[in-house]
Amino acid sequence: MKHRGYYGEFGGCYVPEILTSTIEQLDEAFCAARSDPAFWAEYVRIMGEYSCRPTPLTYAENLTRHFGGARIYIKREDLNHTGAHKANNVMGQGLLVRRMGKKRVIAETGAGQHGVATATMAARCGFSCTIYMGALDVMRQRPNVFWMERLGARVVAVNEGSRILKDAINEALRDWVTNMDDTHYVLGTACGPHPFPEMVAWFQSIIGREAREQIQRLTGSLPKRIYACVGGGSNACGIFLPFIDDDVELVGVEAGGRGVATGQHASRLSAPGAAVGVAQGYKTFFLQDGDGQMRETHSVAAGLDYVGVSPILADLHRQGRVRFESATDTEVVQALELTMRAEGLIPALESSHAFVQAFKEAPRMSPDESIIINQSGRGDKDIFTVADAFQDPAWRDFITDTARRYANA
Ligand SMILES: *Cc1c(COP(=O)(O)O)cnc(C)c1O
Repeated sequence: MKHRGYYGEFGGCYVPEILTSTIEQLDEAFCAARSDPAFWAEYVRIMGEYSCRPTPLTYAENLTRHFGGARIYIKREDLNHTGAHKANNVMGQGLLVRRMGKKRVIAETGAGQHGVATATMAARCGFSCTIYMGALDVMRQRPNVFWMERLGARVVAVNEGSRILKDAINEALRDWVTNMDDTHYVLGTACGPHPFPEMVAWFQSIIGREAREQIQRLTGSLPKRIYACVGGGSNACGIFLPFIDDDVELVGVEAGGRGVATGQHASRLSAPGAAVGVAQGYKTFFLQDGDGQMRETHSVAAGLDYVGVSPILADLHRQGRVRFESATDTEVVQALELTMRAEGLIPALESSHAFVQAFKEAPRMSPDESIIINQSGRGDKDIFTVADAFQDPAWRDFITDTARRYANA
């Protein structure tokens, strides 16, 4: 257990003694599943029937013409059930839970997307489901809380600490320690203690495996560069890792928020300011202040607003194998608008970070070269934020009018 689960100096498994045997059991189940070709085949079959796999690789003809450089292809993870790549991870873990014979799942969620994905999986697999969410997030993310509850999950509002994601993670771990025998913790990204980073990245690698085959079929060769946004790092690991031994440049794009100079961002690898530390069960770069306290992060995209980052990506950063950039909130909204107008696609604000960097680089590349942008999710969920960013007056009337009707009812 000591040497596995490290990526250079990053990763590891820093959990309370009491969880060791549960984590070991999970690791064994994962290793057995991974070496059983029937397990992956079953996973691919279910993702085809229940979600939308293989997701298409769309040639963005109009954006390509607009920039006049590299040919732009978009991997369409937005077409998954519940609207993002998160479906890949939760369904994979669901199959593993079934194999382990457990009957209950728990998860942490910040913006609520992972909570909704987990609740759909639990409903489909017949598991009981509890979702931990900071009390502030429960208030801010009412639409997702609504869906989780309708899907049969119990949503627990966590009133500890700052009442946000990190407090929800602590509470979920506390639950797991108490109920290990029948409960699995469905971690939402390629972070946390081993074997979670490896396991989540493995399920998400379905993205890159498909994209590799698709781009070769469409263009006869591999892409020059691949762009993915980076929150915890699961969609980036998913599309990058199947290309890791190829001559393909990999670019991860973090949340630049109001600009990295303002301190209001979530750029851990693309800007100075993060330091290596151990928290939440693993070792990586965390945004922390001088005393080692976790810093507040900011992004227009709730899914990128996280203090840590996958240990797999931290190591690829240190090796120089993946290049990290950041995109500001303003750039992100502009790239989203251009993509909507040019292609009729509505990328999530998270995904739009990858589009920003691709749009900066594509014009300087040759039409013989192709690039892939991972559209990790769809933007419908972002209507509140995007309508505000465009200062849409009719939207504002709609909200105030709805509020007035409720107040009078
Ligand atoms: C959650 C989310 C992300 C960030 O998570 P990663 O683990 O970094 O992939 C990115 N895009 C979308 C659409 C998301 O919902």
